[in-house]
Amino acid sequence: MQDLEVPVLIVGGGGCGLSSSIFLSDLGVDHLLVERHATTSHLPKAHYLNQRSMEVFRQHDLADSIYAVGTPMEHLGNVGWMTSLGGDRPLDRQWITRMDSFGGGALREQYLADSPVTACNYPQIRLEPLLKGEAEKRAPRKLLFNNEMVTFTQDADGVSAQIQDLADGSVGSVRAKYLIAADGGKSIGQMLGVTMDGPTGLLDMVSVHFTADLSEFYDSSCVMIWLVNPEGSGSWGSGVLVQMGPTWGRSEEWVVHFTVGPDDPERWDDSAAVSRIRDLLKLPNLDLQVHKVSHWILEGVLASRYGVGRVFLAGDAAHRHPPTNGLGMNSAFQDAHNLAWKLSAVLREEAAPSILASYEVERRPVGMRNVDWAMFTFLNHMVLDAGLGLRPGMSVAEQEAAFTAFFSDTPMGETRRARAAEVFSTQRTEFQAHDLEIGYRYDEGALVHDGTEPPPRDPMGNIHYPTTRPGHRLPHAWLEAAGKQISTLDLVGRTGQFLLIAGPDGEAWCDAVGKVAENFEISLRAVRIGAECEFADRTGRWSAVRQIDDDGAIIIRPDNHVGWRSKTIAADISSELEHAFTVILGRGARRFK
Ligand SMILES: Cc1cc2nc3c(=O)[nH]c(=O)nc-3n(C[C@H](O)[C@H](O)[C@H](O)COP(=O)(O)OP(=O)(O)OC[C@H]3O[C@@H](n4cnc5c(N)ncnc54)[C@H](O)[C@@H]3O)c2cc1C
Repeated sequence: MQDLEVPVLIVGGGGCGLSSSIFLSDLGVDHLLVERHATTSHLPKAHYLNQRSMEVFRQHDLADSIYAVGTPMEHLGNVGWMTSLGGDRPLDRQWITRMDSFGGGALREQYLADSPVTACNYPQIRLEPLLKGEAEKRAPRKLLFNNEMVTFTQDADGVSAQIQDLADGSVGSVRAKYLIAADGGKSIGQMLGVTMDGPTGLLDMVSVHFTADLSEFYDSSCVMIWLVNPEGSGSWGSGVLVQMGPTWGRSEEWVVHFTVGPDDPERWDDSAAVSRIRDLLKLPNLDLQVHKVSHWILEGVLASRYGVGRVFLAGDAAHRHPPTNGLGMNSAFQDAHNLAWKLSAVLREEAAPSILASYEVERRPVGMRNVDWAMFTFLNHMVLDAGLGLRPGMSVAEQEAAFTAFFSDTPMGETRRARAAEVFSTQRTEFQAHDLEIGYRYDEGALVHDGTEPPPRDPMGNIHYPTTRPGHRLPHAWLEAAGKQISTLDLVGRTGQFLLIAGPDGEAWCDAVGKVAENFEISLRAVRIGAECEFADRTGRWSAVRQIDDDGAIIIRPDNHVGWRSKTIAADISSELEHAFTVILGRGARRFK
C-alpha cells in the first residue's frame, strides 16, 4: 500500500464506517476507509432500521434502494409469542399474544404523522453490501477492504496511521487530519485510554443463521416470534425466531437468538445447533441448512470519551448494548450523521475546530440513554415470563402446569391471560418506541438555547411530542411546493447547507440571510412556510408544530436538528443571526458588511 494523505481516515467498514463514508462524500469531504476483512460481515446481526435512520437515508438518497429490497410493513408491523411452530400436544402451536410493532397495524397513523418515512428492516448481512456499493459509487477507490490499521499516533496537526494490506503484507502510512474510529471497539478506544463503562459478560448469547422452509408453520405478518414453552427456560432461554428474507412473506432464511448457560455442555458445540432448533420449533424432521453460528456476550457499555484529540469513536466503538430495540446499528448511523457535517464544516473552514467537541456533548447522552433502554427492554422479557406464571428454576412439570393454567377455559385462566396482556403491553417500550427512536434531543452542543423547557417525554418511549426547541429534531410536516409534496425534513438537503425557516411574515429574516451567509462565508438558504409562500402548509400541520409566530424564524443545522429559534421578529435581526451562527459555528463572522 502506498503512502497517502487524506482529510479523514475511517477505520472500519461495518455500518458505521460505510455510512460515514457516504455522508462525507455527500458533504464533499475526501476520505479513505480501511476494513480489515476482505468482505462485509457474514454475521446476521442488525436488521431493524428505525424511522430516524430511514430519514437520514432519505436525506442521503439511500432510502428508496433500501425500501426496494427491505421488509415491507405487512411483514414488519407485528411481533408474536407462541409456544412452538410445530407439535401436536395440547400446549403446542398456541399463540400467547401478538403486538403491533415498528409503526405497523394501529401504530401506522401515529408514526406517519411524525415522519415522511416508515421504518424498514433489512438484515445487516445484506445491508452492508448495499451501503458498500453506494459508498464506492460516491467515493471510487476510497474503500480499502482487506486492509488493517495496525497502529496510529496523533499530534497537534493530524493523525498518522500504519495500514497493512493483508493481501500482500505491505504496510503504508496514511496521514489524516481526523480519524473516525468505526472499529466496533476492537482497539482504537483502548489505545486512547478510553474505558467502556457498564456491566459486561452478563449472558452468553448464540445466534444461528439458517435456511429452512417454514412457510407452512410461520405467520409471516410477524417479523419475529418468541417461542416460550414448558420445555424451555423463558423467552431468552428458549429463543426468538426472526425472518431474514430475502423474500418477504416467504422467508428462506432465519435467525434464532438464545442464551446459553455457563454449564451448558453444548455451549460451544455448534453442531448441536440443528437439533436445538428442531427442538425449539418442535419440528423434528425440519430440513435446515445452518450458515453461521455466532457467539456474543450481553453487555451494556458506554465509552468514557467519544473523542480524544483528532480521533472520534462512533457506533459500537462508543456504545454496545443488547439488541432489543435494534438501537446498535441505528445509533451508529446517527453518530456518523452527527459527526460528518461537523467534520465537513471544520474542514471547509466554515466552523471552528472547537465544534467537534459537541459530538461527544450531543451524542454521548443519547448513547447512555440507548444503553440503559436496551438493557431495560432486554431484561423486561423476564417480566413477561413472570406474567405467564414462570419463575427461574421451575421444572418442566411446573412450567407445564403454569401453561395449562394459562390456557385453561376457566375464570382463573381468563384472569391469567388478562394479567399477561397487561404485562406484555409493557414491551411496547421495545416494539413501539416511537419517541425513543425519533425524539432524541441535544441539551448542549452546537446550538443556542432559547430558555424554554423541553416538552414532556413519555416514560414508556411511545408518544412523541414534536417541537422546534433548539437541540431537537426538526418536526416533520408535509408541505406543497410547485404542486409537489415535500417534507420539512427535505428542505435542508445533503451537502452541509444551513437552513433558515421563517413564518409567512418573516421576510425580514430571509432578507438578512444573504448578508449573514457572506459575512460568515457559509452556505445558508432561507425559506418561508405559509399561505402565499414558496412552501405552502396546506394541512396546517406545520403551523401546529412550528412553535413560532408568523414573524418568527428557526435555524436548521445540516443534520436536521434545530440550532436556534426566535419566536417573533427581533429588533436587530442581523445581530440575532450573527449571534446564533457565532455559537453554532464556534467562531465569529469573517466580514462585517
Ligand atoms: C444478535 C444481534 C442483533 C442485532 N440487531 C440489531 C438491530 O436490529 N438493529 C440495530 O440497529 N442493531 C442491531 N444490532 C447491533 C449491530 O449489529 C451493531 O451495533 C453494529 O454492527 C455496529 O456497527 P459498527 O459499524 O459500529 O461496528 P461493527 O459492525 O463491529 O464494524 C466494525 C468494523 O471494523 C473493522 N475493524 C476493526 N478494527 C479494525 C482495524 N484495526 N482496521 C481495519 N478494520 C477494523 C471490523 O472488522 C468491523 O468490520 C444487533 C447485534 C446483535 C449481536
